[in-house]
Amino acid sequence: MKFSDFNLLDLGNSIGVTGVLFSDNNKSYAWVLPDQDVHNIEIVPMTIEEWKKGLLQVDVQEVEIFTKGPNGEFIKSVVRKTQRIIEQRVSWAVYKRDNYTCRYCGRDGIPMTVDHLVLWEKQGPSVEANLLTSCRKDNKTRGNMEYADWLKSPYYLKVSQNLSPVIRRANEILVETLSNIPLRQSERTSR
Ligand SMILES: [Zn+2]
Repeated sequence: MKFSDFNLLDLGNSIGVTGVLFSDNNKSYAWVLPDQDVHNIEIVPMTIEEWKKGLLQVDVQEVEIFTKGPNGEFIKSVVRKTQRIIEQRVSWAVYKRDNYTCRYCGRDGIPMTVDHLVLWEKQGPSVEANLLTSCRKDNKTRGNMEYADWLKSPYYLKVSQNLSPVIRRANEILVETLSNIPLRQSERTSR
């Protein structure tokens, strides 16, 4: 298989990094990440350009690749993404759980986003338990408001009238469970 045989759009969704391949002069070693089920390993020869394309597409936070150029010089390819970029499979799990419907205003059939209960800026993680499906308008309107304050805001009190009592209650109960959500550990601040 060649790199060009991959569907680039699939790389981010269905293909992730499962390990690292090391080689010495005699042999190569696949260091597989714990909990990964790896089978049918196939070597895909790649040019540097293909590497760069591939790295931009897969779901990894930060990767540095050093390759030897044609004249023996080292070429460095670096891809950095902030963790704010939420893995698509996490987003889709949240949308599915919320029935593809905005948890704040009850609208569906419009573009959705995921909204952090504990704000990203307050070390809230991008995991299902900390995310709710929200239409763009509500997400933008909430901005950096704390979740508990948001539920008391005139805007939310108005749009949430369209929610079923069950969902409205579920939103309120979440206030009490926010402290159970593990915060993100400190991360590198210098970029
Ligand atoms: Zn909404």
